[in-house]
Amino acid sequence: MLNPPKKTIHDIDVEGKKVLVRVDFNVPLDIERNVVDDTRIRGALPTIRYILDHGGRPILMSHLGRPKGQVVESLRMGPVGKRLAELLDYPVLTLKESIGPRVQQAIEENPDKVLLLENLRFYPGEKENLADFSRQLADLADVYVNDAFGTSHRAHASTVGVTAFLPSVMGLLMEKELETLGGLLEEPARPFVVVLGGNKVSDKLGVIDSFLEIADSILTGGGMCFTIIKSMGLEIGHSVTEDDQLAQVGSAMKKARKKGVKVMVPSDIVVADRFDKNANYRVVPTESIPPDCLGLDIGPVTVEKYCSILNEARTIFWNGPMGVFEWPSFENGTKSIACCIADADAVTVVGGGDSDAALRQFGLEEKIDFVSTGGGAAMRLLEGKKLPAVEALADR
Ligand code: ADP
Ligand code: MG
Repeated sequence: MLNPPKKTIHDIDVEGKKVLVRVDFNVPLDIERNVVDDTRIRGALPTIRYILDHGGRPILMSHLGRPKGQVVESLRMGPVGKRLAELLDYPVLTLKESIGPRVQQAIEENPDKVLLLENLRFYPGEKENLADFSRQLADLADVYVNDAFGTSHRAHASTVGVTAFLPSVMGLLMEKELETLGGLLEEPARPFVVVLGGNKVSDKLGVIDSFLEIADSILTGGGMCFTIIKSMGLEIGHSVTEDDQLAQVGSAMKKARKKGVKVMVPSDIVVADRFDKNANYRVVPTESIPPDCLGLDIGPVTVEKYCSILNEARTIFWNGPMGVFEWPSFENGTKSIACCIADADAVTVVGGGDSDAALRQFGLEEKIDFVSTGGGAAMRLLEGKKLPAVEALADR
């Protein structure tokens, strides 16, 4: 799957070494700067524990939010370090800088702590991938581990630049992400059913193209299905559409027919009179969407059809909500499909930030085999594209 295969943390000896680890601690904070969702911090724990268990000294680094190359007090890593210490049950020292002599000194003086550097994006060199900044990061340690799958589609100093100066391998979360997502494109147990929804069809055409090579069926919903429905010559009212994508959608459907992949659109739609939480709504057949309405969820007949296909599946990948699940009137389709995926006798993989949020909203996260921590990176990988931060790691 990894071509050429890249080294992992299992391939190196971390004993007595300072290990610079790029993690993805870009977590949501509330107004009082409490960590609202610590999934990403939990995701990095296996790698951090592995380093500690094998006698290494983890020096962690991440970005947080969008400080645009300058210090923003509300985006300091303090609250993240505090939460990490609780989860890890180990002392964590959070620094106020990411590079320089004071950081070097803190590392020397605190051999019994996990260190967390300051928000990398306080430095313009991070996003600009400047060699000088990369070298200063590398100067802090003996080896580099990248465990930040969520940023692996970006070539920044801490994901790509730094690999020029240190032996560089992937962490356990990165390895699991690549194995699980990459595995979908290799030899999935069949039937392999892909569920795609979400907002924009333009975001999904790349993965549709990939899955047409390997999936047995693709079930569509959400806003993206309306461009497909429109390409079939049907009325979609004011539903979201990307008319500039109609041609690409048409050729994807043609490819599907050629490959014998079933691409399904909903047979009924929950339509509303306006894009509003409290809009009036009703269910109509897909052929009869009124011109003055817009579709905000898939209907019950569609749920039943899709669930009967999902019940037979042995591998399921889901990306993109089936409707505007953030509003109770339009959450049903997403909730029902998510329940069905959770209960299916299949390997279940979910990608996408909003899909993950939906799982959480319905309390189903624990019932999914693998929920990817990287939205954009996961989609890139599934499109069959290379991830620069993975490419930069040492070959096996
Ligand atoms: P993910 O983050 O899981 O990849 P997307 O970002 O592609 O998912 O899409 C999620 C968004 O799509 C949600 O905010 C949801 O409200 C919206 N959405 C779903 N169905 C519709 C629809 N019929 N019309 C407009 N927006 C929709
Ligand atoms: Mg999203």
